[in-house]
Amino acid sequence: MVFRRATAYISLRPCRQLHASCFRLEPKLNAVPPAKTRNIGIIAHIDAGKTTTTERMLFYSGKTSRIGNVDEGDTVTDYLPSERQRGITIQSAAISIPWNRHKINIIDTPGHADFTFEVTRSLRVLDGAVTILDAVAGVEAQTEKVWRQAAALKIPRIAYINKMDRPGAGFSRTVKEIIAKLQTRAVCVNLPYFEEIDSELKFKGVIDVIHKKLLLWDSSASQDGTKIKALDVSDGSAGENIRDMVAKSRESMVETLGEFDEGIIESFFEHNEDYMAIPASILQKSIAKSTLANEVTPVYCGSSFRNIGVQPLMDGVVSYLPSPLQIEAPEITSTSSKVAKKRKKVQKTKTTATAEGIPLTMDPHKGLVVNHNHNLTVALAFKVITHPARGVMAFFRVYSGKLAANSTVMNTRTGKKLALRKIMLMHGDTPEEVSQISAGNIGVVAGTDDDIMTGDTLVSHGVTHSKTFSDLEANLRLHPIEIPPPLFNSSIEPATAGDARYMNECIKVLLREDPSLHVSEDEDMGQTVLSGMGELHLEIIRDRLLNDMKAKIRLRDLAVSYKETVARPNGMSSSCDHFDNPEINATVVFDAFEGDVNETPYADEDGAIILEHENSVIILEPTATPAYMTSAVKERRWKLDYSLEELQDSLIQGCTTGLSMAGPRFGLPLHSCVLRIKSWNFPIEDKGPQPSALLDVGRRTVSKAVKDLSSLSEENFGVLEPIMHTRVHVDSGSMGDVMHDLNNRCSATVLAVEDSGDSLDKQNWAREEAERIYLPPDYTMKSANQDLTERKVIIAETPLKEMVGYLSKLRSMTQGRGVFDMSYIGMRRVSRERLDSIKSQLTFV
Ligand code: GDP
Ligand code: MG
Repeated sequence: MVFRRATAYISLRPCRQLHASCFRLEPKLNAVPPAKTRNIGIIAHIDAGKTTTTERMLFYSGKTSRIGNVDEGDTVTDYLPSERQRGITIQSAAISIPWNRHKINIIDTPGHADFTFEVTRSLRVLDGAVTILDAVAGVEAQTEKVWRQAAALKIPRIAYINKMDRPGAGFSRTVKEIIAKLQTRAVCVNLPYFEEIDSELKFKGVIDVIHKKLLLWDSSASQDGTKIKALDVSDGSAGENIRDMVAKSRESMVETLGEFDEGIIESFFEHNEDYMAIPASILQKSIAKSTLANEVTPVYCGSSFRNIGVQPLMDGVVSYLPSPLQIEAPEITSTSSKVAKKRKKVQKTKTTATAEGIPLTMDPHKGLVVNHNHNLTVALAFKVITHPARGVMAFFRVYSGKLAANSTVMNTRTGKKLALRKIMLMHGDTPEEVSQISAGNIGVVAGTDDDIMTGDTLVSHGVTHSKTFSDLEANLRLHPIEIPPPLFNSSIEPATAGDARYMNECIKVLLREDPSLHVSEDEDMGQTVLSGMGELHLEIIRDRLLNDMKAKIRLRDLAVSYKETVARPNGMSSSCDHFDNPEINATVVFDAFEGDVNETPYADEDGAIILEHENSVIILEPTATPAYMTSAVKERRWKLDYSLEELQDSLIQGCTTGLSMAGPRFGLPLHSCVLRIKSWNFPIEDKGPQPSALLDVGRRTVSKAVKDLSSLSEENFGVLEPIMHTRVHVDSGSMGDVMHDLNNRCSATVLAVEDSGDSLDKQNWAREEAERIYLPPDYTMKSANQDLTERKVIIAETPLKEMVGYLSKLRSMTQGRGVFDMSYIGMRRVSRERLDSIKSQLTFV
């Protein structure tokens, strides 16, 4: 099929009604009402073109005067040197751009699996997402994973098939993959348009099915994509075959939408059953409705690098993704102080206790109202970064009320009040000072240092500016999120003693930005240990320390984070006295379990305190506290300056420290332990000793219990290793080799092998759906259509250690076609045979 070559180009500026990007007429960004605001994120596999597309969006909106280029390292959104060097986006920053009299806030989400925690965090502040796919690679593993996360959070999505200019690009094949792998119905609002030039098909534009236009971009090198020629499809000026494609595409669109929206069927009958006659506005309304309900995914295509197809995608964001007024209310909890004061399971209730039923209502103009209080502003600091020139910057989203400059806010994590001076909107790297940020919007405060960390909730009184907060307000938490445990360690030390101070400052900066990074001190070795989520996570941290921050440090190789645990408790208790006061003492005993501590009966015992990160539990038995102490409290005879609770807290704190110390076999931290405090004592008539003596006794009693048990047999303690839930995607031809390798070299437990869709049922559904909708033939594809069932997914549980460097091994077994993703399940005990094979790796760092 050869299309007629377009001759003349018209400029998009000044605007046409189709892409009414009226730059000069844009209202001030901050005055845009919530109904015309879109908070979106871009989710994509690495290299799909997220940064390239964002740069075009900025340029077409008028926010930048030239297009930044990933390959030359001068993009606006990737502004850390390490991002520019790697050409990948690490930081979640946010940018606001005007488009079609709307404001689009683009929240950048990281693209690598190691940052899924950050992805989850940023997904929670999005109202909609654009999924960018590579037209050659199709739906890749990471996209599938993030898509599932977005689907679980019910975030409406549109898809953009990028890189249509590449040889081997396949629009229809990619749509089929979207249906099969992402399990969604697709509505193709644009189709690709090619022209034959020198006997090769060149991607030149898109066919706009909704507006019945052929949009042609002048893609000569000197052009920036602002000149678009729009040809009418219905009057035949774009060619008969194109009219035909639009008619077929509209027919299949109406059929799909009709399943969710009767209105579109009515309109079809009103228009003499002519698909071409249904007005664009009716189609758009119906698509928006079904997209919001997560029933369909509108599909666009383009080539961001060649500046083709980005403006229609931006129109799509405005037309089909929801405003902050249309979304479901966010999760909000409040641990009122009454709940927090309950002693039982102190550490556990911190994250889960909720004052359920905080009333949330949606005001049609102002957005979310929390607790019927229009005066109450609630905002989430979803990302804190340290800018090379501007210092600490906290990006926040206001959910209710308005956050004003020069106001007092409370950080509900710390309980501290902060005086905010300037607040700003971000345009890439350029801030604009504003007087307030209203509900549904994204803003930035600078210079907050350690007062705000990623994930904090901020409250204030936007109307009265009152600086006092009720109990409920002071304890509000938005989108509470659990931080996953770190799986890799790397020890770090200053090059010389003089470099230590700067190194510690740098680490503080990193911790503020990234709640999934951990730092611990190994006192025996005099080492600082960094722990993170994955290989790339720590590599990038290292890179930032060395290159961005120019810290003079030495980092050891990455090591998987192994732990020790009590494997065979013997029921014997161990006691220890304070070295100069035998009246201060404690007696403890170990118990053992496997799996998640929260699912064991220990977690429900009276006096149980869960250490979430260590998966351990300390049980202060109700009979452990001497009766004379409890009766002294009851009978108001308590004479000490500190309360009984403070004494108990010190003892528990001491035991916690004891548990975090090195295990007896390999010096690894202890994990998954049950420690019962059977009894303890402290002189309450004598005012001499301080509660800190109990810290010491707790720590030493645990050490003694460890020593007592290990002296009987070394094997009373075992080693734990991290286990991952792994999905390996391969062609059926490579299945045998990959399975063999997983079973033997990787010590994996294969759970299932599935077709690339989730199950056969869904696969059949996907096949029927892909056949039912209209998709033009992929003339540009070199090879024949890949059959959907040829791809298999092997689902297995694998030790993390064997997954280090797995991608390159997998690639070599699969001619480069294999991919995998994994997520952490938990720590599991290592068998004696396996212990022999990994013994050399078992160092803390
Ligand atoms: P990200 O990792 O998703 O942010 O992807 P980038 O925007 O950094 O792009 C990755 C690579 O793909 C870069 O080398 C881009 O120049 C290239 N690229 C992006 N979009 C296109 C496109 O439309 N066509 C082609 N041929 N290359 C593209
Ligand atoms: Mg990028």
